[in-house]
Amino acid sequence: MSLERTKAVWRKATKKYTAKNKAKMESPDYQTLRRGWEKDYRDRKRTEINAKLGNQCARCGFTNPLALCIDHVNGGGVAERTSMSQKTFLNKVLNDTTGMYQLLCANCNLIKRHERDEFWRKYPCGT
Ligand SMILES: [Zn+2]
Repeated sequence: MSLERTKAVWRKATKKYTAKNKAKMESPDYQTLRRGWEKDYRDRKRTEINAKLGNQCARCGFTNPLALCIDHVNGGGVAERTSMSQKTFLNKVLNDTTGMYQLLCANCNLIKRHERDEFWRKYPCGT
């Protein structure tokens, strides 16, 4: 089966399921469940990405996963992140073999942005 045909079959099945279960899917309980599933998915992908990228900041070695960010080595992160869904982005990082991503802690990520003058503000920090 071709990819287009597979997508068409999935679209039709999804449309049918959504129409049949509209009330259930719009209920607050279902929305809460769905947010939980999506959070679990994101957390699982982030854990896999952190493991792939070394579980520590590439500059200073900081290891707390709560402050580790996915950094684009050559910049352009905002443009890429806004051009696709979060799910697509996480899978792209996970499947990347070019080395265009690294982990940086929040401090090192901000310092790098200052060094590369990537802030969109009119005046530099401290003025
Ligand atoms: Zn760091």
